Amino acid sequence: MLIEHLSRRLLELEEKGLRRQRRSAESASTPWRRVRTAEGSTRAMLSFCSNDYLGLATHPGLVAAVGEGARRFGAGSGASHLVSGHSVAHDALEEELARWMSPHIPGARALSFSTGYMANLALLTALGDSSAAIFADKLNHASLIDGALLSKAPLQRYAHGRLDLLSLHLERCTQPVKLIVTDAVFSMDGDRADLPTLLALAEANDAWLVVDDAHGFGVLGEQGRGSLSHFSLCSERLIYMGTLGKAAGLAGAFVAAHPVVIEWLVQAGRTYIYTTAQPPGIAHAACTGLKLIAGHEGEARRARLRRLVGALRDRMAAITGQHPRLGWLLPASDTPIQPLVVGTNAAAMWLAAALDRQGLWVPAIRPPTVPQGTARLRITLSASHSMEDVDALADGLARAAGRMQ
Ligand SMILES: *Cc1c(COP(=O)(O)O)cnc(C)c1O
Repeated sequence: MLIEHLSRRLLELEEKGLRRQRRSAESASTPWRRVRTAEGSTRAMLSFCSNDYLGLATHPGLVAAVGEGARRFGAGSGASHLVSGHSVAHDALEEELARWMSPHIPGARALSFSTGYMANLALLTALGDSSAAIFADKLNHASLIDGALLSKAPLQRYAHGRLDLLSLHLERCTQPVKLIVTDAVFSMDGDRADLPTLLALAEANDAWLVVDDAHGFGVLGEQGRGSLSHFSLCSERLIYMGTLGKAAGLAGAFVAAHPVVIEWLVQAGRTYIYTTAQPPGIAHAACTGLKLIAGHEGEARRARLRRLVGALRDRMAAITGQHPRLGWLLPASDTPIQPLVVGTNAAAMWLAAALDRQGLWVPAIRPPTVPQGTARLRITLSASHSMEDVDALADGLARAAGRMQ
């Protein structure tokens, strides 16, 4: 019965153009990648889908730090943090991250997690008890939505960016604890949340602002310190989640907040407590990752990334201008996430396939990851792309647009 039921549902996905496929890479996360084809041979592709925004995942210094960390601390942590998996490598990383964030969250303490998904679940379930209320942007990442749904707090979702609606909800709320939860850079659109206004609303309504900066940490702000730095924000009411698997090139995440909030996560964050600690060697390497992000090399990579983003946007504007009937929407984004919204699932799949035939790997993102009717190509750039790579993508898009019309 189960197999028949699931087979039917898989068929439904297929028919709606929603069935997803994995692609196996044979080489590391660099723009030019060798991938395994369905026939089992190897093919080189130019990819625009990684969140390794600074190209640090293959940085020799960071790769060496992972090896050194494993030699010193072993390959795995062996247990959860509260049993015996916590190490001085985690302490060192947390202390460094607390120093990073304390200009924006005075007196902050930081706590490391195995993944951003787990950090968000821990945050929202541990803080979202029955005395709390959660207010969330509708386009927040799935991990924030899941965390809110798993919590005991009532959830109020507001239309994307509609802080006027959020303000009304906050004024009406009678729960003693109020948590506003937002992506800092929205993962499928690349636009930024208006964090200064959100923080002002939090302060005016005795609420807390939970900021998920998965796509801003390492990329935005002074020395890549993230979205709070970008907007020069400072408040004890900020609860910050950053990830180490994107611009930091590794894996893992952290929360930085008031020490009492962090201590409560240690005591009550179920996805902190009941999971094996991040390998300490990775925590050790993350300290090297932070140095790379903040140093000259990080600065140079961010500058290059901004140039690539500008060039791609210029080319995309020219193509959509030449083919207005396609109705392609240019992203309102100045981040490395540059989605091209094409509308139907079929159009997005067709376009991704047309690029694929030209050796360009750009994923089509469809509902439920994005709202119905806004299927898109999610183009992401990395500092390790070259200007020629961006030209190759734009040429491919122009050829596909010509054929579509
Ligand atoms: C990727 C992402 C996460 C999850 O982080 P992982 O470390 O990959 O689990 C959380 N929030 C946002 C906005 C993300 O893009």
